[in-house]
Amino acid sequence: MAEIQLKSLAHSYSRHPEGPGDYAIRQMSHTWHKGGAYALLGPSGCGKTTMLNIISGLLAPSEGDVMFDNVRVNELSPKDRNIAQVFQFPVVYDSMTVFDNLAFPLKNAGIPKARIEAKVEEIAAILELEPVLRKKAKGLTADEKQKVSMGRGLVRDDVSAILFDEPLTVIDPQLKWKLRRKLKQIHEQFNITMVYVTHDQLEASTFADKIAVMYDGQIVQFGTPRELFERPNHTFVGFFIGSPGMNLIDVSVTEQGVRFDDIDVPLDDGQKQRIAATGSSNIKLGIRPEFVQLTAAPADDTWPCRILDVEDLGTYKIVTLQLGEQRLKARIDEDQMISGDTLHVGFPRQWLKVYVDEFLVDEQT
Ligand code: ATP
Repeated sequence: MAEIQLKSLAHSYSRHPEGPGDYAIRQMSHTWHKGGAYALLGPSGCGKTTMLNIISGLLAPSEGDVMFDNVRVNELSPKDRNIAQVFQFPVVYDSMTVFDNLAFPLKNAGIPKARIEAKVEEIAAILELEPVLRKKAKGLTADEKQKVSMGRGLVRDDVSAILFDEPLTVIDPQLKWKLRRKLKQIHEQFNITMVYVTHDQLEASTFADKIAVMYDGQIVQFGTPRELFERPNHTFVGFFIGSPGMNLIDVSVTEQGVRFDDIDVPLDDGQKQRIAATGSSNIKLGIRPEFVQLTAAPADDTWPCRILDVEDLGTYKIVTLQLGEQRLKARIDEDQMISGDTLHVGFPRQWLKVYVDEFLVDEQT
């Protein structure tokens, strides 16, 4: 197992990049620590696969270094990097049995026969592949083939890391959650560094201890699912994580803090100074729908707002509100009653985040 460090990494598929838009990875530095269960989460095209391929050596970065345990590996072949990679679509040898497919990476690594048998059987049991272990891969279902593909990545416990590139895309939805749990179980059992690429936040949260959120060729936040939810440090994280995402409101600066419509939000001196220092007028307030407070009657620091829509999702409701010029979402409990067409909205101070040029201006920093 290795600590994987990416230093000032950049990659462009264009031979002559002309600007930031030509880069799939932009000046990124990041460390994947030994033994972690990590997710790399981001929208399509943000550079996730590019990063994995650079780590495994399938792709040479345009700039920067890839370090395994402080040793530069840029020039090492994929084989010598000893990384297992599981792709979106199954990679299996159709003419071989499932057993031989699973045994293949172990044979290549010169593992003794008895150990190979024990290890293959162990992984086959976890992935519930025992009934097809002696069958040729050719006759397997798509789900079974992908399980074999995952198993080939998982059999070796001496690898530097295992990289999963959206491995459950082709898997039947019923099986997905089960396989996610199994991956987690395998991680807990063998403690191998795992990086799991997905664009699905539920998948990321159920698998990973820590999630790296990637946006436009950069990691914008690396934190626990809870940190990403409670303290998104970039508007993209606020918007991308959560269902629905964070409310983001354009505001202007006042002497006391910030203002939108006729609502003044006071800020502490530190925040005001940091906003002033940027000289930027691109300032937003962010509040998650879960933290928007709704009351039937007016109270201190609440404002009347019009109900535009109530969506009942079974275990919770999403209320769409019009507050002055702003449209907001609130997420409330299923049993919270909504009547009439007006409510009063409040923003608990601790959950109100301030963003300048899309980055969080923290209370403490
Ligand atoms: P997805 O979730 O859709 O797989 P991703 O986050 O993995 O997306 P990448 O596949 O790494 O993103 O792609 C990042 C950017 O690089 C995209 O703009 C993509 O179009 C571009 N790109 C990827 N592979 C190539 C290639 N072989 N040649 C040229 N451009 C590429």
